[in-house]
Amino acid sequence: MGNIERTFLLESNVPGKYKFICRECSRETTHIIVAAYKESGSQDCGRGNSYDWNEANQIIQCQGCEAVSFRVESTNSEDYDYDHESNTRYDIETIKFYPGRSAGLKAIDSYLLPLNVQDIYKETILAIENEQNILAGIGIRALIETICKDLNAAGKDLYNKINSLQEQGIVTKEGVETLHKLRVLGNDAAHEVKKHNQQQLSLAIQIIEHMLDGTYIIPHKVAHVLK
Ligand SMILES: [Zn+2]
Repeated sequence: MGNIERTFLLESNVPGKYKFICRECSRETTHIIVAAYKESGSQDCGRGNSYDWNEANQIIQCQGCEAVSFRVESTNSEDYDYDHESNTRYDIETIKFYPGRSAGLKAIDSYLLPLNVQDIYKETILAIENEQNILAGIGIRALIETICKDLNAAGKDLYNKINSLQEQGIVTKEGVETLHKLRVLGNDAAHEVKKHNQQQLSLAIQIIEHMLDGTYIIPHKVAHVLK
C-alpha cells in the first residue's frame, strides 16, 4: 500500500437550503447545512493508479422542528457507473444519515403500548431506519406475534391466532388479510433470510402502527380523556 494523502476543510454556514428527510417530522423538509467538514484523500496504488475519495460530513438542521443531525455524503474512485448514452463516467454518491431515518414512519405515542410490544416496536423501527432489512422483516413478524399474545389470540399457530383477532372483533376482515400478508413477509425474512425492500417494510410498519393506534393508544386516551 502506498502513500496516503488526505486534506480536511471546515466550511461553516454552507449556502443554500436542502430537502432532506427529518426523523422528527417523518418526512422531507427544508434543511440548512450548519457546517461541513470535508475530507479529500488519495492513496497511491502503484503503476500510476490511485484510490481517491471525497467525504462531506455535515451538521444539518431541519427548518421546521429545528432538530440537529448528521449527514455524510461520499464518493470514491471505485464507485462509479457509466451512462451508455452519453458515454460518460459518473461517480455514485453514498448518503448516510445519523441517526438513520425513513420517510413516512409516524411517531406514534409508543409509551402507551404494553412494554413487550413497545420494545419490539422500537427496535423494528430502528432496523428500518438503518436499512437492516432482514432484521426489520423478522421484527415485523415478532411484533405481530407479540400483539397476538398480548391480546390472548387463540390458536395453535400464528395463522389461527390472526384469524381469532377477527373473531374477537379486534381487527376487521381487511385487517386480517393484511396481517396475513405481513405474516408471510416475516416468515420469508426469518426462514429464508429474504430481504425486503425499504418500501415494503415501511408500508408494513405503517399498517402495524395503525393497528397499534386503534388497539392500544386511542382506547387508552379515550379512557383518560373522556372519563
Ligand atoms: Zn423536522
